[in-house]
Amino acid sequence: MNVARPMTTPLKLAALFVLLTGAVLGAIGWLGWQLLAQERVLEERRLHDRLDMAANAVAGDLDRDLAAWEAQLSAFAGGKPPTLPAGVAAVAFDAHGVVRRAGVSLPFYPRVPPVSESASDRFAEGERLEFERQDLASAERLYRRMAETPDPGVQAAALIRVARTLRRRGRIRDAIAVYDRLAAIGATVWVAGAPAELIARHERVVLRRQLGETEEADREADQLAAVLSSGRLIIDRDTYEFYGASAPRRAPPDAAYTLATALDTLWPTIERQRNGRTAIAVAGSSLTALWHTSPAGSAALIGPVSSVIPALKSASGQEFRLDLEAEDGRMVWGVRDEGPSVFKTARETGLPWALRLTGIESGAAHDLIRSRRLLQTIGFVLMALVVMTAGMAIFRALMRELAVARVQSEFVATVSHEFRTPLTAMRHLAEMLDAGEAPHDRLPQYYSALVKETCRLQSLVERLLDFGRLEAGRPPYRFEPVDPVELVRQVLGELGHSPSARRLRLEANTNSDETTLVFGDRQAISLAIRNLVDNALKYSPDSAAVRVVVDTGDKEASIAVIDLGPGIQAGERRTIVRRFVRGSAAADLRVKGTGIGLAIVDRVVHAHGGRLRVESEPGRGSTFRITLPVMKRRRGVEARRAASAVDTSEPDPAGRVRL
Ligand code: ADP
Repeated sequence: MNVARPMTTPLKLAALFVLLTGAVLGAIGWLGWQLLAQERVLEERRLHDRLDMAANAVAGDLDRDLAAWEAQLSAFAGGKPPTLPAGVAAVAFDAHGVVRRAGVSLPFYPRVPPVSESASDRFAEGERLEFERQDLASAERLYRRMAETPDPGVQAAALIRVARTLRRRGRIRDAIAVYDRLAAIGATVWVAGAPAELIARHERVVLRRQLGETEEADREADQLAAVLSSGRLIIDRDTYEFYGASAPRRAPPDAAYTLATALDTLWPTIERQRNGRTAIAVAGSSLTALWHTSPAGSAALIGPVSSVIPALKSASGQEFRLDLEAEDGRMVWGVRDEGPSVFKTARETGLPWALRLTGIESGAAHDLIRSRRLLQTIGFVLMALVVMTAGMAIFRALMRELAVARVQSEFVATVSHEFRTPLTAMRHLAEMLDAGEAPHDRLPQYYSALVKETCRLQSLVERLLDFGRLEAGRPPYRFEPVDPVELVRQVLGELGHSPSARRLRLEANTNSDETTLVFGDRQAISLAIRNLVDNALKYSPDSAAVRVVVDTGDKEASIAVIDLGPGIQAGERRTIVRRFVRGSAAADLRVKGTGIGLAIVDRVVHAHGGRLRVESEPGRGSTFRITLPVMKRRRGVEARRAASAVDTSEPDPAGRVRL
């Protein structure tokens, strides 16, 4: 009989499986990747939105601070001095120049209104003597008299003229003394277009140099420089530079000088625009200037960014860092950090600088994102594992079904062959007998062969029917108390007529004189024992004995069928119990069979709550052991009477029964 090829080859199926699983895994991986990428984009957008909101809030704060200064500048223009932080200078001014100042005193101002001096016509008489008559002595006397007047303006104008006449007369030292007096009048009184003190100190330096008193001249020059940078004088830049030229050893430019220079630079803009806010850098200092014009007048303020807006120092939060940039890209405040940021131009915010907020990835936020990504990744990996496991399970089930289909088809082929052999023999014998061709003396032989083949066919059919019934779960087992020793004896007794029966040995080992009973279906258990004994006879040499040993214990009764056959390979011990599976012994010894005998045994034993165990030493024999749970014990005599129909033997002293 031809054996049908089972469906498509397993290799193709495996390839298909790998392809499908790969496609599913690929799709899951791609989806996971897309999800992670989307998550990243969303996270960036969220961060950007947060930064944008923070930037607007910061810009609002800075604008409020500047507006507060503008309000103070209005008040200052009206006469109320502002409360300025250290390092900030403010000036109130009108069309002629600076009229009031506050905060840091600057060494010079962009524009200074002219200070009224004593009318020069008061000295007309003296100057006529001095210049027309060249009567320097008389002129000096006249000037000195006028220097005694209480008006400091007149005093200063007189003293400067006294010094002049003395210088013209070559009395330099006397002139220096007069300049001493002039210097003492101070800086508030102006004479000859500059503060009296400034002129006096300057002239003293000049005269000392003229006298060759270098040391004295330098000392005087240092004092002049100190006065110039003290901020006591309200002078313009030209005056400052002119008189400063006499004091070459001036101290390096300080913060006040920087502020003055910046204010001077901005002045044209300040004069042009009524209001303004701007950033300016001078000598490496980033300064901010504000100016404001109100009905009360105009005022300006200038100072380092961090002094004008002290809140800047605390503006950077835990989530972001702030930096300010001037229009030309110069950093005004903060340092530029790497990372996601938002940028607001000066035009957008109305501030003097552009503003940038850079997000700081805080440890906690970073950890949160990381753990979320980790969870997602684990989720995808788990999903992939589930898909792979499910795929493997489906694949294995498929392969198992294929194997079953293959085994079944082999079974059909084997069974057909099993049927055909006795049928062919029977047909041949029947035809011979029918034709009357058989020699008379051989007739008994032919009849016996016919009987043998018929029995073989019947046993085959019965086995198949048994298997079919068991497979279908019919008929239901009829459980009753059964004495296993008696049952085994009965089965062996039924085999008694067969030629191989003389090879059988029964041993029963009981540990008490009470009969052990199991609760089971007599027919089914008999069938199981018969199958095991059949196999033992089939697979062991004709000369070898087969022992059937019954052991009864307190909890279990075991029936072991022991033969001295080829044994069973370790790898086969589990598989031969499956239906339609035949082992190597069957092939090696060319023993006919169907592969369902042990499957029947296994099912029956399991249905009784027992176990079938296979022990074997390949080459030295096998032991198939059925273990059944014990039901209860009955008193020996009564039990033996109930159990033993074929038992004609007596137990030996050790409780062993031999048949
Ligand atoms: P069958 O005997 O018809 O092949 P079974 O289910 O009874 O089917 O046995 C399955 C296989 O187990 C046999 O083909 C044989 O290889 C192995 N087997 C069973 N009993 C024995 C035994 N006593 N000794 C060696 N091999 C055995």
